[in-house]
Amino acid sequence: MLFSDVYVSDEIKNKLLFTVKNQRVSHTQLFLGVEGSHVLALAIAYAQYINCHNRTATDSCGICTSCIQYQHLAHPDLHFYFPNATNDTIKTDAKSSDFHAEWREIVLETNALFDEQDWYEKINIEKKQAIINVRDTEEIIYKASMKPYESEYKVFIIWMADKLRYDSAPRLLKTLEEPDGKTLFLLVSDKQEKMLDTILSRAQLTKVNALSISELEKVLMEKKNYDMETAKKVAFCSENNLIAAFQYNIEEDSKNENLEIFVQLMRLVYLLSIQSPSLDFSKVTNFIKMMEDFGRERQKDFLRYGIAFIRKCIIWNYDLDTILKYSLEEKEFITKFQHYINASTGPVFYRYFNDAIQHIETNVNAKILFTDLLFQLAERLAFALRKK
Ligand SMILES: [Zn+2]
Repeated sequence: MLFSDVYVSDEIKNKLLFTVKNQRVSHTQLFLGVEGSHVLALAIAYAQYINCHNRTATDSCGICTSCIQYQHLAHPDLHFYFPNATNDTIKTDAKSSDFHAEWREIVLETNALFDEQDWYEKINIEKKQAIINVRDTEEIIYKASMKPYESEYKVFIIWMADKLRYDSAPRLLKTLEEPDGKTLFLLVSDKQEKMLDTILSRAQLTKVNALSISELEKVLMEKKNYDMETAKKVAFCSENNLIAAFQYNIEEDSKNENLEIFVQLMRLVYLLSIQSPSLDFSKVTNFIKMMEDFGRERQKDFLRYGIAFIRKCIIWNYDLDTILKYSLEEKEFITKFQHYINASTGPVFYRYFNDAIQHIETNVNAKILFTDLLFQLAERLAFALRKK
């Protein structure tokens, strides 16, 4: 991957180019991006640049043997590790190397523009908790102790390093701290708060912020051949998230599904809160069943959408709506919901949704979790309505 194909600000690229020029390439580095940034691509481009035989001041050559192998993700000294779990094909002892074919496919097909949920769908583990497990770390430690095959540097790119399992991390720490000769660890994550402190403290940090709206619009016009108006709409609707912008389906607004589910949820919450005799209880159980069937990542995606929607409702009530972006459909529902999701209920709802995401991470049963969520929301709303 060339730096010119990586959509991050020039400032970040220049910082990395500088480390190579001045021979200050740190052995253990953490690339920390905001959600939806091109941070994985940046790590790959950096590694390719370091190993390129004819690099220029600003980019890899793209045509030397090392670059060609890098561009096919087939360099013998380039190793990838990422969250994984068993699936229908790999029934026991899953590890990253079992999924290399899928990994190469998704990285090459999307130009490394995909998120965790896309990856879990790709390897068909949406309903499982994926981790970088102890078999992976053992393999990293072993491979790190070997000599490089061809290039000066062996490179380990660990994607979503926040998914390194606690109990497998300590053994890796020593290797991260004192890597063998020319070994390079490039850790990639979009969740600083989930990174183990022991790893954070050992890695040199490169932060990757979101592109500005105008930068994103420019990328979309160039790479997706959008006209100005379409690029503006897509950048706006994807809330400046690069991956979401690239995956945005102009024909069919992908956020509509989450909005529809959220509306469905709030209707049930309302009927429960007023103990409406017209409430058909099978709708509650169907809703919970639907959420259960989604799988963890899709559940979290919905909950995150819910949090964003609640935030928009709260802000709307304060007449601060110009600072957030709303789709037309959202505006319609926010005006309908403002009596129910407001400064009094909003922060509590917000907390319930956040807690639910935390609970999913700790493997709580989805049926119980969504039942609790529904009833907690209804109880809080009933309380607010009584006070009126
Ligand atoms: Zn090259």
